Parts: sequence; structure tokens; C-alpha cells
Amino acid sequence: MTFADNVAHIKATIKQAQESASAHRELTLICVSKYHTVEEAKAIYDLGIRDFAENYVQGLQEKQAALPDDITWHLIGPLQSRKVKDVINQVDYFHALDRLKIAKEINKRADHVIKCFVEVNVSGEESKHGIKPEEVMPFVQACAAYPKVEIIGLMTMAPHDAPDEEKRGIFRTLRELQQAIMEKRLPGAPCSELSMGMTSDYPLAVLEGASFVRIGTAFFQSDDR
Ligand SMILES: *Cc1c(COP(=O)(O)O)cnc(C)c1O
Repeated sequence: MTFADNVAHIKATIKQAQESASAHRELTLICVSKYHTVEEAKAIYDLGIRDFAENYVQGLQEKQAALPDDITWHLIGPLQSRKVKDVINQVDYFHALDRLKIAKEINKRADHVIKCFVEVNVSGEESKHGIKPEEVMPFVQACAAYPKVEIIGLMTMAPHDAPDEEKRGIFRTLRELQQAIMEKRLPGAPCSELSMGMTSDYPLAVLEGASFVRIGTAFFQSDDR
């Protein structure tokens, strides 16, 4: 199986899920290249993918320096305060905002408005980053103090080994929260987007209205599926 087969399979799976979802919406397919080389990422690029994600600042910088200029870059891992200045102006989307301290630092260092997702720990797993669902609304309200931080949506990760029903419930909860925030029309927080779905669960996330999916393994695998 080639990378071309993988891309075709992912696109077909997404399309099928979109067709069964009640509301069909625009979707950005992001290739998470974090465990892969520049050459492998370039092979995916050559198959037409233009959105790439890394979870560490260093990985993002290395890939960005080596790959073509027309890529949209997503930082999907948490940022440390002291690293914000090194990377924020090279990032198109930041998916893991979960502390006001980081919002404040982004506001200080960014030379343009940064599109951010608030990461929410819907499942309550201790090991997960993200803020508790009940804290999201006040967090988003507090971010209004930082005009260079635009809250474009919410992001979550479902537990890897949870049953499908549970994962789908987590994605649904994130969507309900996103809609509640969007309806408030808070300043600097359109909150219209949902970043959810990885290799093991993206069809479920698309069924629940994901508008950004972050897929790594499924792009790069070369064994039998
Ligand atoms: C690694 C990672 C992904 C992609 O995971 P796969 O299971 O390889 O698709 C998505 N989102 C985040 C935040 C990640 O760290």
C-alpha cells in the first residue's frame, strides 16, 4: 500500500462520513507529520495535501524550513510560555490553547491575529491536556482581553481505547459546547470550528461535525490496513 492509497482511503472515508452526517460542512484535512521525516512529508505534499501539523516547536521549524512555502501550518501540541516568541508568527493555527498565561504571551509576541482552538479535556482523563468543559466559557471570555488571540473553535482528543459510542459522545459534547459559545457572540471568539478526530476515530468526529481533522498514522502506514 502506497501513500497515494492512504490519501485516497482517508478522503473516501471522510466523504462517506460527511454524507451520513446530518450537517455537511467544510472540512480541513491536516496531515500530522510529527513522527515522520521531511521526505515522507514531502511525498504527502506531492499528493496534494497542503495542511500539516507538528506537536513540538522544533519539529515545526525543521519541517517548515525544508518544505514548500504554500503549506498551512498547524501547531497541535501545548506551548510553553518561553517558546511562544520563537514560533507564534510562523504558525497559521494553534490547536492547544489551555492557559491564560499563554494567551497573554501570544498577544504580546504575535505580529498578527492568531487563530486558536481552546483545547478541552472532555473525557476527564488525567493524562490529557486541556481545560474542563465547565471552565471553557469563562476562559473564552477572559481571552477577550487579548485581541491577537482569536478563538476560532474548540479542540479535543478522545481516549485512544474507548468504545466508539463513548468517543462519539465526547465529540458530541465538544460540539454542544462550541455551539453554546458561538451563540454568545463573544468578542474575539467566533468559535465556529471543531478540531477533532485522529486516525482511530476521525469517521466518528466527522459524523459529529468536525471541521478540522488531525491525521497522522493513516497517512504514513505501509502495512496491511
Ligand atoms: C499525534 C497527534 C494526532 C495524530 O494522531 P494519529 O493517531 O497518528 O492520527 C492528532 N492530534 C494530536 C494533538 C496529536 O498529538
